Amino acid sequence: MEQPGRVVVIGAGLGGLRTVESLRRRGYSGRIALLGAERHLPYDRPPLSKHVLRGERDVSWLRSADDVTALDVSLHLDTPATGLSVDRRTVNTASGSHAFDVAVIATGALPRRLVGMDAQVLRTLDDAYALRAALHAGSRLAVVGAGLIGCEVAASARAMGVEVTLLDVLPAPATRVLGSRVGRILGALHARHGVQLRLGVGLAGSEPGRVLLDDGSIVEADAVLQSIGVTPDIAWLRGSELNLNDGVMCDAGGRAAPGVFAVGDVANWAGHRHEHWTSVGTQADHVAAQILGQDSAATDVAYWWSDQYDLKLQGLGRPAPDDDVEVRAWGPRARTVAVYSRNGRLTGLVGFSASSAIMRLRSDVAAGTDVQKILERFTEPMPHDSSAPSADTPDLIATPVATQSRPFNSRNRATPDFRAKSS
Ligand SMILES: Cc1cc2nc3c(=O)[nH]c(=O)nc-3n(C[C@H](O)[C@H](O)[C@H](O)COP(=O)(O)OP(=O)(O)OC[C@H]3O[C@@H](n4cnc5c(N)ncnc54)[C@H](O)[C@@H]3O)c2cc1C
Repeated sequence: MEQPGRVVVIGAGLGGLRTVESLRRRGYSGRIALLGAERHLPYDRPPLSKHVLRGERDVSWLRSADDVTALDVSLHLDTPATGLSVDRRTVNTASGSHAFDVAVIATGALPRRLVGMDAQVLRTLDDAYALRAALHAGSRLAVVGAGLIGCEVAASARAMGVEVTLLDVLPAPATRVLGSRVGRILGALHARHGVQLRLGVGLAGSEPGRVLLDDGSIVEADAVLQSIGVTPDIAWLRGSELNLNDGVMCDAGGRAAPGVFAVGDVANWAGHRHEHWTSVGTQADHVAAQILGQDSAATDVAYWWSDQYDLKLQGLGRPAPDDDVEVRAWGPRARTVAVYSRNGRLTGLVGFSASSAIMRLRSDVAAGTDVQKILERFTEPMPHDSSAPSADTPDLIATPVATQSRPFNSRNRATPDFRAKSS
């Protein structure tokens, strides 16, 4: 197959860089332009809520400037794309347009913000520096949104000696990813580390130094982080003739239109959009292979990890919130693993520092193995409904939490400013 003459990659983050690397590794010798909205070279985001926030590292570049140069790519930093025309095959920026034979969209996602709430967000390196500057031992941080990133920030801030309150309208942390039962285990972990949990309560407003809750209570804070999820960064693509919905809508191989592909957090492949580091690289390589007419074995097992305190949480698969879940102990060190299933078939796993279970059962998640066969490989069920007295997580005892669940501000209609919006 003939190689395209010009590839334009939009988004100089993980997905954009990995696409460029894969194209070169697979032998592409044509021209590549990489457009990035930020002024920084491509850097890694997972450390932002971990080492960078704690001040243990300043940044994790994905490649040095020399290594980027070695890729023979025309790099345009601080140059956000403002539009793309599939028909005219151009990408526009404020400083000019770039013609393409193939375009790869890798613009990631933007943090959701609550309208009227003056609070920080955490998506970029500059966000991490700003949040880090606001935290010191003894200061008070309120984290609005107890998803995985909110939980990571809470854990990092506790390690810095910060007083942390973790707020969520749902009754347990990270419910969207873990389900409520495993979310309660995570909540217990944070409580054991001194995080104040305010779960199952909506937000009524905020004032400088205060978060107002819809049960009438107030959380005083020196810094407030809103961590309520992200939306795919697609606003710049309006009018592009692409199908935009929950991201750039693509087929199962990442093709959005002839010669136009999307990868990473912005990309919706056959109805699924991932927001996890590992799938970005897999997608980028698969797209590079397609551009060059080569084979690629794209794996479809979603994987994520999250570092909180001294635990590494790891997830496999795409379990639905109402899937059945069994919490079991794995291996001689009795590592805690949640086993998710639907109609008797394995749909996913979440391990608490249980890498060996996650590695060994990967193909079973992909195959949807009979869950009874999987459970036989574990030792004891965890006691009761809860948590996991295990060698590595001896303190994971589920705490009772409120069961009330409603959207932010559903009670306080007088302050309609508080609705989720993308930034
Ligand atoms: C704080 C934090 C911690 C995380 N921790 C984990 C973790 O522990 N484990 C895990 O699995 N995942 C984690 N993730 C998720 C992971 O980092 C993302 O899935 C991954 O970065 C997505 O890569 P991407 O290239 O799609 O998007 P991004 O990394 O967001 O890169 C997109 C780039 O495109 C640029 N851009 C946007 N619009 C334009 C435009 N119009 N023109 C040009 N450029 C544009 C953006 O500025 C950005 O640099 C974390 C994410 C964050 C924010």
